[in-house]
Amino acid sequence: MIDRVFKVCLLGAPGVGKTSLLHRFVNDTFSDTYKTTVGVTIKTKTLATDSGEIKLILWDIEGERELTEMQKQYLKRCHGYLLVADISRFDTFEVLEGYQKALENYTQLPHIVFANKSDLVDEDKTQLTDRIEMSPLVFTSAKTGENVEEGFMNLAAALTARPK
Ligand code: GDP
Ligand code: MG
Repeated sequence: MIDRVFKVCLLGAPGVGKTSLLHRFVNDTFSDTYKTTVGVTIKTKTLATDSGEIKLILWDIEGERELTEMQKQYLKRCHGYLLVADISRFDTFEVLEGYQKALENYTQLPHIVFANKSDLVDEDKTQLTDRIEMSPLVFTSAKTGENVEEGFMNLAAALTARPK
């Protein structure tokens, strides 16, 4: 039985791997996918967590480098954010910093930053973490699957930790 349902919004510059991360994470058996012409794809995934079964409604919001009014509409009533950048393109982290400033309730809501495409860099992760200065930060690869499940589970834990 599903105890709680959370709307999670994925944001990040074009091409960082948002859609690929969802494909990697979401088991099709539990997913409900549809596309609209206005640039959002919604997938769902049911997860067993320490505090019961939860359902994540994952909004893959296609966007530009700055939040548009349309995107802001999609973000309404979301419970948490998944911010995605591409570790091989550092400017994609600057895009996220811009989003964070534009999201009024950002600091109050559970969130996580995925430094995706970690398969493309050999650099030491500790050094990269110092350079990025965003948290909580997880190095992921939608290609190899590294940390994808773990990252989503961390966000799920932050979501369930909040009072109903
Ligand atoms: P989106 O625009 O953020 O939804 O990005 P996509 O999921 O469409 O991915 C953009 C491109 O990056 C595609 O060619 C993907 O195959 C590639 N890509 C996504 N994630 C990874 C990753 O973790 N590693 C590598 N090497 N390529 C990736
Ligand atoms: Mg996409």
